[in-house]
Amino acid sequence: MTDPTCKACQGIWPQADHFITDLGLSQAYLHEDQFFKGWTVVVFRRHATELFQLAPTERMQLMEEVTLVAKTLAQVFDARKINYELLGNQLPHIHWHLIPRLATDPAPLEPVWRVQHEPIQPPAHELQASIERIKDAMAKLR
Ligand SMILES: [Zn+2]
Repeated sequence: MTDPTCKACQGIWPQADHFITDLGLSQAYLHEDQFFKGWTVVVFRRHATELFQLAPTERMQLMEEVTLVAKTLAQVFDARKINYELLGNQLPHIHWHLIPRLATDPAPLEPVWRVQHEPIQPPAHELQASIERIKDAMAKLR
């Protein structure tokens, strides 16, 4: 089930070259802004806007998928904390932002949306290196 007006359903967002892996009900991508290194989005594969629209079994599986990505990111980026954000105000299609917060974080008490910064879009080889590190670590946790 797709929504013709939805950027996630139409494959416009996230960017294909940021793809990390298929998780089952969802797919993981590196976020386009890597100011917070390892910032990842986990996008539900079909169109839904609210957790309460999912069947209980889907919701449980999605949480397992989100948890696997979070655990992987914590390990790969040596995070002090993972932030989990499910907002959908700008793009109402279920997608989790999983954001590793590192020891070097400029504002550890703030949600990332309140930390003013210039977005960092790493060159393709750096992006691929991060994706490979995440995939390798996830394969060992799966
Ligand atoms: Zn959608």
